[in-house]
Amino acid sequence: MDENAFLFAKNLHKTYRKNAISTPVLRGVDMEIAEGEFLSIVGASGSGKSTLMHLLGSLDKPDSGEIYFRNRRIDNLSADKRDYLRNQEFGFIFQFYHLLPELTALQNVMIPLMIRNSVFSWMTGGTSSKQRAIALMERVGLGHRLHHLPSELSGGEMQRTAIARALIGNPSLIFADEPTGNLDEETGKEIVDLLRELNERDKVTIIMVTHNLEIARGTHRIMKLVAGHVEIPLDEQPFGVLPEVFPVVRPKIFNELPDEPKYQAGSL
Ligand code: ADP
Ligand code: MG
Repeated sequence: MDENAFLFAKNLHKTYRKNAISTPVLRGVDMEIAEGEFLSIVGASGSGKSTLMHLLGSLDKPDSGEIYFRNRRIDNLSADKRDYLRNQEFGFIFQFYHLLPELTALQNVMIPLMIRNSVFSWMTGGTSSKQRAIALMERVGLGHRLHHLPSELSGGEMQRTAIARALIGNPSLIFADEPTGNLDEETGKEIVDLLRELNERDKVTIIMVTHNLEIARGTHRIMKLVAGHVEIPLDEQPFGVLPEVFPVVRPKIFNELPDEPKYQAGSL
């Protein structure tokens, strides 16, 4: 593992507990992402994808394990510092957009700046904030929908608004949790094209959860969660050190592996 990776997580565990019931969700997840990478996370429903995104995005804390961002440990920060980190560095996009229904599209885009700035600087710097929000709405193709309420927008337009909102704080890392999950195929592809453009042109690092393998194949790398572990592709598995989720019987492919394993100490 590259401990200097942009973001990396080591041995993350998370169990939800409610009354006497405990649901173990993450059982030792290791992952990393390089700056500028566009990573997809896939896995069955309930496999812990959203839980992992919440931990990586500092919206929730792991029970154990460590998360580092730009070489700084972030999983044990105080709530205030985590809020600050999210506001300065991260952008979030969700399946159901999470727009405030009583605000216009433009006002929704400006919300993170209202949170970031004091009321005073908000009032004095309001014009430039608004100009920036308008520019971003134009960037996502919605310059003609500034004053529409979310209820007056299509699904694709609501997601574009949410993307503009995620961009307003100039994030270095965007977390997108099933951003196309509620859209038809064509609109979903347009949204992913927009994310890919942000990644390529603006160098925003992106972690995207998706159910759609075709969409995932359009990103740099796919990581699969299975039963709370990262499934390691067979050709990257360390020789003789099988993760416990794999069957005890060794798959036949191991008999055909060359003497020199592909695995190198230090890589995942
Ligand atoms: P995914 O996004 O891969 O579908 P999630 O991370 O949302 O999976 O959920 C993983 C498991 O954890 C599911 O079984 C879900 O029911 C459970 N879970 C998620 N959030 C909570 C919570 N706040 N309290 C209790 N259980 C939860
Ligand atoms: Mg989910």
